[in-house]
Amino acid sequence: MSEFVLVINVGSTSVKADLINPTSGKCDGKLRIERLGSDQAVYSVNNENRGPAPSSHDEAIRTRLPELLEGKRASLVAVGHRIVHGGKIYSDPVVIDQEVMKQLEMLSPMAPLHNPVALMAVRAAVLLITEVPHIAVFDTGFHTTIPDAARAYALPTRLVQEYDLRKYGFHGTSHDFAAKQIAAYLRTDLQKLKLITCHLGGGCSVCAIDGGRSVETSMGMTPLEGLIMSTRCGDLDPTVLLRLQQNAGYGTRDLEYLLTQQSGLLALTNGRSDFRDIERGAKNGLQDCLYAIDVFCHRLIKYIGSYLAVLGGADAIVFTAGIGENSAWVRRQICDRLICFGVHLDDDANYSVGVTEDIPVVEITDSNSRLRAFVSRSNEALSIARSTHELLLT
Ligand code: AMP
Repeated sequence: MSEFVLVINVGSTSVKADLINPTSGKCDGKLRIERLGSDQAVYSVNNENRGPAPSSHDEAIRTRLPELLEGKRASLVAVGHRIVHGGKIYSDPVVIDQEVMKQLEMLSPMAPLHNPVALMAVRAAVLLITEVPHIAVFDTGFHTTIPDAARAYALPTRLVQEYDLRKYGFHGTSHDFAAKQIAAYLRTDLQKLKLITCHLGGGCSVCAIDGGRSVETSMGMTPLEGLIMSTRCGDLDPTVLLRLQQNAGYGTRDLEYLLTQQSGLLALTNGRSDFRDIERGAKNGLQDCLYAIDVFCHRLIKYIGSYLAVLGGADAIVFTAGIGENSAWVRRQICDRLICFGVHLDDDANYSVGVTEDIPVVEITDSNSRLRAFVSRSNEALSIARSTHELLLT
């Protein structure tokens, strides 16, 4: 009989649950709730729209998950929960018990958009599924190999120690998965590869990976630093915050809301946060959409250039997640600016690419390329299912 791991991945307005066979990688059922809490909330099981949508994360888990699990519970071996921030305490996957829950609650302020809702889902799922262990898998875990010099903020030691002010890095399961997928595609030992992985989705980050180990990444103490994202601004001179506090009356909560929910692509386009809409606008000549894509790509190329130096050259650039997998426009802008590093884009491949479960990696550079570029299908659920399963086997 097949064994399944149930993977639960909760965002501020979404719930994703996947039943994954960790050995074959096959998905045997998925539940999606998007735009949770709004009147446009959508709820589907196995890509079939169902209604009505639940109104909270807790309700989603309590009342909709049983539908996904119907007839499958006997094959369930564990539940894997994506937890964004593991802080200093957790890097490897851990079985969730009362003590772990307490520690995770204390970490919530480190990822205010992500950790509190994830914990709400854990509490509801633990009550619903009592027969198998619940395991937390951390986004930060993959980045524990980043050297101190790359991790440090140049602030007084006392403050750094007392408030744990340092780079952690996120999207670890996605960067790790993309790197392994590229090594498998190239039939090369991951230890021999230097890769720059670009996770470009609603949240965006770049990672420099040397021999399978993360050595630099663009997100920092929280998932706000680095690239421009749907509604997050990424890098910013901290004086901007002081100026808004002093001159525009912004308080702490106003600033947090501004930087995480009202900035990024949404702000640059005056109202569009979905990249599909922005690309459509740009193709129709809308100046703010063209501008937003330019700013987005400029920030990204700046990181890729610096990571080429950090790694001392690389074998490949890898694009993954919603924008990375689907936007030929972004990939072209980036690859064209890497010609000086030996990137030769294969335009046909770039425009016709469509990664699927059966073809999860496609090369978009031609045979003259010294630095190769790939599109890699992201599958955070499978990565979490495998980490969860590995812990069960130890
Ligand atoms: P993710 O967080 O990986 O689900 O990615 C979400 C982002 O990917 C959103 O900004 C989407 O607009 C973007 N995206 C999804 N499909 C496409 C597409 N076909 N073309 C451009 N962007 C896309």
